[in-house]
Amino acid sequence: MENKKVRCKICNSLKEGISLEHYNLKLCLECFPIFFRKRIDETIKKFKMFQPSDPILIALSGGKDSVSLTKTLRDLGYNIRALHINIGIKGLSEKTEEFVINFCENEKIDLKIIKLQEIFPLPVYKISKIAKKPICAVCGMIRRYIMNMEAKGETIVTGHTLNDEVSFIIKNLIFWNDDLLSRINPVLSEKQGFSKKVKPLCLTTEQETKLFCEVLGIKYIDESCPYRSEVYDVFKHVTAELNKNFPGSIIGFYKGYLKRVKKMYSESIEKVSLQKCKDCGYLTSSERCSICRLKEKLLEYKNG
Ligand code: AMP
Ligand code: ZN
Repeated sequence: MENKKVRCKICNSLKEGISLEHYNLKLCLECFPIFFRKRIDETIKKFKMFQPSDPILIALSGGKDSVSLTKTLRDLGYNIRALHINIGIKGLSEKTEEFVINFCENEKIDLKIIKLQEIFPLPVYKISKIAKKPICAVCGMIRRYIMNMEAKGETIVTGHTLNDEVSFIIKNLIFWNDDLLSRINPVLSEKQGFSKKVKPLCLTTEQETKLFCEVLGIKYIDESCPYRSEVYDVFKHVTAELNKNFPGSIIGFYKGYLKRVKKMYSESIEKVSLQKCKDCGYLTSSERCSICRLKEKLLEYKNG
């Protein structure tokens, strides 16, 4: 997105601005944040994500997406507190934690920090080796566990963007992960004790979250995780290229997918019933949850 002189659609003046080609919309830099906030608020209302007084727990990673979303929800007056999970990556995690503390202090947002090491006293790459699972899968599983355990009655908000959602769908179409495809929805309602989970940036691109931070001078952590999988990068790249070459295509695809998903997967997916893990109380389809089973595996490893 290049900055040039445009006739702004909101204030009608000829000023430095941007052209959001996927919406066929030109806006000046002052009006863009207004548009950004309005779009997020409309997404929240359109999908009935939450009400202004509902307690919200926002998962704040320190990246541009969750930072711009946290700032926006704060500006819009929603009842938020933030959760940051320090995943214990040398160098990056300390810096990110410090950034998140400063950001929340400045924005007067209540922040809770949980260290992954409090649950597993080992680096994630080691846990992944012992579990024989990819690092991203293990890290994601533990992060979801922490979020679900922390949110008591609060709606969990994450900074997943339109780009995240579309690359996730394309990836799972390519590998035909029907189970995951059948559950795609920007709102996962409260179920059997799990908190409601929502994605207010599901109709917002990453170019927009970046621009929002740049225009308002909001800092964020720009480094990506050194363990990020190549597969993730490939599908994110494909999605960005699609949107560049065919502006508007990814939002049309996403909306179209949401329209069709129920019909495509009606009754085909078995509903699993959940019960409380006998060790920690987390909801699981087996007697003990995956985290407690992983803990046991690590203990066995430690004891040789
Ligand atoms: P990612 O899977 O890294 O693309 O992150 C997607 C979303 O998950 C982010 O926008 C955050 O809302 C949340 N998230 C990721 N990492 C963390 C973290 N370390 N602490 C809190 N929330 C996180
Ligand atoms: Zn458990």
